[in-house]
Amino acid sequence: MSWGCPWITSPAPPVDPASVHGLIEELTALELDSAVLLTSFHQSPLPLALLLRMARVPQIAAASVDYPGSLLDVRVRPGSAPSTGTSTGTSPATSAGTSPAIDDAAAVVPMPGARDALNLVRRAGLRTGVVSNQSGIGRGMLRREQVDSVNARVEELLGPFDVWRICPHTAADGCLCRKPAPGMVLSAADELGIDPARLVVIGDIGADVGAARAAGARAVLVPTPVTRPEEVDAAPEVAPDIWTAVTRLVAELDLTGQ
Ligand SMILES: [Zn+2]
Repeated sequence: MSWGCPWITSPAPPVDPASVHGLIEELTALELDSAVLLTSFHQSPLPLALLLRMARVPQIAAASVDYPGSLLDVRVRPGSAPSTGTSTGTSPATSAGTSPAIDDAAAVVPMPGARDALNLVRRAGLRTGVVSNQSGIGRGMLRREQVDSVNARVEELLGPFDVWRICPHTAADGCLCRKPAPGMVLSAADELGIDPARLVVIGDIGADVGAARAAGARAVLVPTPVTRPEEVDAAPEVAPDIWTAVTRLVAELDLTGQ
């Protein structure tokens, strides 16, 4: 793709919100695993790094004379060796732990509270499952075996799940399983023999909420660094972390005696 950057092109047109949002949407749809920004030495990569962050690119590298805050995962200071990480916090890739782009089982890091939350759910006699978009397969960037070994590692760390559903397609494939389409949620409910209306989907982006609602299931959004403010605003239910989401659900079940 190509995009005429209004703060680089000459003469520079005004920065147009519609065009910037269009770029973010296009980049989001590409589901990039990482980005390397190449700019001439007198240009800052930071405005574009910000847009890439907003498009949920988990790993961004660039040369930057200016302090990059948390916008760059790998910062090259002209004239010195690259450094990773920044002092103002972790990148979405490391703090979210289960980035959709993950391709290495050794890199799986559970979300804080995930193990405890799952133990609580299992002790309450509820069944658990995973529904995951993995378009890296469809784009040839991820082999099915890599996804399988990542999933095996997830079960090693978090215990066994009763059902797994993986969508290997890209947005362009127009399949019925890729979230926010309801296919994976419906088929997981079917395998579990549960009415989708009695299923709760906990996720961190609007597509998770969308898939749940389209399937007639309940959705709880647990924001992570990749969650957008408008997704939080639109969510029917929000919890600050997985543990809170799950204790709330289990308490409700106790109250209703189900
Ligand atoms: Zn699919």
